[in-house]
Amino acid sequence: MRLVQVALDLPVPRLFDYRLEGAGDPAGRLVKVPFGSSGKPSKIGVVVGEIAHSDQPVERLKTAEPVATLPVLPQEWLELCRFCAQYYHHPLGQVMAFALPPLMRRGKRPREPKPKVGAGKTASPAGYDPTADQQAAIDAIGGATGFATFLLHGVTGSGKTEVYLRAIEAVLAKGGQALMLVPEIALTPQLEGRVRDRFPAARIVAAHSGVSDAARARAFLAALTGEADIVLGTRLAVFMPLPRLGLIVVDEEHDASFKQQEGLRYSARDVAIWRARLRNVPIVLGSATPSLETFYHAMSGRYTLLALPERAFAAAELPTVVTVDTRKQTLQDGLSQELIEALSVRLHRREQSLVFLNRRGYAPVLACPACGWISRCRRCAANLVLHLADRRLRCHHCGLEAPIPRACPDCGNLDIQPFGRGTQRLEERLATLFPDARILRIDRDSADSPKKWQTLLAAIHGGEADILVGTQMLAKGHDFPNLTLVGVVGADAALFAADFRAPERLFAQLMQVGGRCGRHRLPGEVLIQTEYPDHPLYQALIGHDYVSFARQQLDERQAAGFPPFSHQAILRAEAHALDDALAFLKDAVSRAPSLADVTLYDPVPMRLFRLKSRERAQVLIESTSRPRLHAFLDAWLTTLYGFKAPRDLRWHLDVDPAEY
Ligand code: ADP
Ligand code: ZN
Ligand code: ZN
Repeated sequence: MRLVQVALDLPVPRLFDYRLEGAGDPAGRLVKVPFGSSGKPSKIGVVVGEIAHSDQPVERLKTAEPVATLPVLPQEWLELCRFCAQYYHHPLGQVMAFALPPLMRRGKRPREPKPKVGAGKTASPAGYDPTADQQAAIDAIGGATGFATFLLHGVTGSGKTEVYLRAIEAVLAKGGQALMLVPEIALTPQLEGRVRDRFPAARIVAAHSGVSDAARARAFLAALTGEADIVLGTRLAVFMPLPRLGLIVVDEEHDASFKQQEGLRYSARDVAIWRARLRNVPIVLGSATPSLETFYHAMSGRYTLLALPERAFAAAELPTVVTVDTRKQTLQDGLSQELIEALSVRLHRREQSLVFLNRRGYAPVLACPACGWISRCRRCAANLVLHLADRRLRCHHCGLEAPIPRACPDCGNLDIQPFGRGTQRLEERLATLFPDARILRIDRDSADSPKKWQTLLAAIHGGEADILVGTQMLAKGHDFPNLTLVGVVGADAALFAADFRAPERLFAQLMQVGGRCGRHRLPGEVLIQTEYPDHPLYQALIGHDYVSFARQQLDERQAAGFPPFSHQAILRAEAHALDDALAFLKDAVSRAPSLADVTLYDPVPMRLFRLKSRERAQVLIESTSRPRLHAFLDAWLTTLYGFKAPRDLRWHLDVDPAEY
């Protein structure tokens, strides 16, 4: 009989002592344990390690029962979870519960699938030779003898994916496993197909939220036993155990979806880098518009910069980017004369166009000009968006729906009006401007299931659409051979947003959406409608000049003391009443340890201060030293966990926050 510590999925930062029978190292064993008063259902936990003695009387400790049907979780996986628990100041048991596939979290094993074992590890040829720049990148990655972080900075269509595939090929040839992280599910099918075509004999498993529970658990087990050669997935795939890990790739490393915004608020990119260090393997971060944090490290020499400045396909040039000054004209539902003409030219030439507006719905709000009533969500501090396609008002934050009122609910005025515009309104206008054009709208409403999304993509590729109207869903990773024009509408709003990361995101988004056109033989053109044609952000886009944009942004951040020149965490609280949340935070701040070079700001309501009828506030904590920030958080959290807060109050810590 031994004593062990078990991590359980509970919101407390502690482990639980149990007895365990049997021999061998128990660390990583999944166990079923009695918890709480007798009669309560047992819990599944993970043995963290053996202990010599317990603070509790041994005779009172209950016995843990091993889940014999599931393999022991490897040391490396435990260490990864431990790192996340420490770095994100999150209970270890909750980290592990998150990192395990849902089935295994419940102590269950998936049924065995039909065996499908690959014969060899030969790759099929790409059909072309790498360019000199690609070759240099492939050689650099292949030449790494241990941990090294590479930034593969390549314009859209420069052949980054080709570099990943060749680097993976080299790792597989040496008997290693590769982990490839991508931002979106929507992107995965195309990429998955490309990877499978390339490595027909390799076992490739997918891990993202669209995979069934059984398949996810099977993928986890295949990775753990080393049967899987390549793991391809979204942020959650960073927790797949990989005993023969030889390389990690993070594609579109700047993408916001790598950061989880609930529960364990981790950045999969950052965890991946830490993991590569732990396993002493190289990691490649790829992007056309690296995050400023990553670019900064590449500038300072911490990461190795590998540049692909040109498109790989010789005939494909980068698109011409021009601005259209909208101050000098009356727009037709947001469309300038220049854009309308450019669209009609493409229609005549039978080429495809894309009009990009990153706002779905018909109009962001319905309003009464007589009394000032506007459609608001009663559960959130947000407006209800008008959706004419299915005649509803809808909250984009909580999903609340309401019918469209016939008259103003406050004054009875019959003439209530939509204000502003979304993709549905643009689509409507384009249909009247171009009655013969085939127009396809692509946003989360028209592509609300993977199946519909696939159907839409097939229609685009099949040449069944002349004009695409869409949100950022269209911006990512797609290759539409016949697309030669991208019109950007309504981008200015993001120029002056309060969030200091807004320009970085806008630049990335516009580069990405602009990169959709002219990828093949036909040259592409990007028209950006703006009232600020001289803005440095647009000027940098015109010059395809990420580097000068990034340098200028970094200068601003340095002057303001923002990341990467400081490190941040946010303590958030939510309750029924905003005052309760604020009071909790004020109390927390007043009892915070004082540490040089750690700044606490005043508690403030969040920008979206009400969400789903819960009111939210936050405190920003900042330091120029990461170790100091974490030392502070450790000490502070010990106090916070002991706090008596109102029953309905919830709080959490967000390390390296991406939203404010
Ligand atoms: P990225 O990932 O940077 O957007 P991809 O790897 O998808 O770029 O490559 C863009 C296009 O160029 C693809 O159609 C790809 O097949 C092609 N390509 C990549 N490398 C080469 C090369 N060395 N020679 C010719 N075509 C290439
Ligand atoms: Zn009214
Ligand atoms: Zn709402």
